[in-house]
Amino acid sequence: EPAHKPILYLEEVTVSFDGFRALNALTLYIDEGELRCIIGPNGAGKTTMMDVVTGKTRPDKGTAFFGQTLDLLTLDEPAIAEAGICRKFQKPSVFEKQTVFENLELAMRTDKRVWTTLFARLTGEQRDAIHEVLETVGLTAHRDRRAGELSHGQKQWLEIGMLLMQEPKVLLVDEPVAGMTHQETERTAELLLSLEGKHSVVVVEHDMEFVRSIARKVTVLHEGSVLTEGRMDEVQNDPRVIEVYLGA
Ligand code: ADP
Repeated sequence: EPAHKPILYLEEVTVSFDGFRALNALTLYIDEGELRCIIGPNGAGKTTMMDVVTGKTRPDKGTAFFGQTLDLLTLDEPAIAEAGICRKFQKPSVFEKQTVFENLELAMRTDKRVWTTLFARLTGEQRDAIHEVLETVGLTAHRDRRAGELSHGQKQWLEIGMLLMQEPKVLLVDEPVAGMTHQETERTAELLLSLEGKHSVVVVEHDMEFVRSIARKVTVLHEGSVLTEGRMDEVQNDPRVIEVYLGA
């Protein structure tokens, strides 16, 4: 039992596919406002873990709580998203023909908690919210460009912005820097670090340089459970971690 109050709390979660345990009694706590990196070799269970949290996959055993009271295993995917758990998949998905601003506007309007019709004028408050997110994701100068004209990195930041428009409590981010240039990777680390304290962010990533640059708590998954947790400099020198990466 953790002494603190985690926002996300998985305990002894087991998921089997035809007898194969993708997750094997996985126990994981994410604190409110934390930026956590999850690493692990291919097949370690990272995607399955996110599938459990978002309601896409139901575990055979275990518990999964959001906050102190919300039992995730009783909720379906839309209800979990509405409760404030958002997921960013690896490939950017933006409306290519719309401008950056319009993409953020559409994301806000599709949020069920925002009672607005598609053609209603934006309120000043709603415009401010969009401008704030434009600043956060570093796209203010590109607000009137069509999303289709953006670089790969900029599209990824725009999609993170679209999720931020829905004011998520937990943001799950799947391999955000895959395919990015070095400069875009650095900028993404800064962006995710700027969310710290405001949102709980869980990043699954293969790029060790990127994980090291974030320099926050790292969880290493292996064969469906936690092998070890700690800072990157501790984790990367752990002989067990070296073994699972080199032996894979
Ligand atoms: P990671 O994201 O860490 O690479 P995954 O969670 O995708 O790992 O997969 C963990 C293991 O579970 C892998 O061996 C994978 O082949 C298996 N697996 C994942 N999803 C399914 C599925 N729908 N059916 C069968 N096996 C699956």
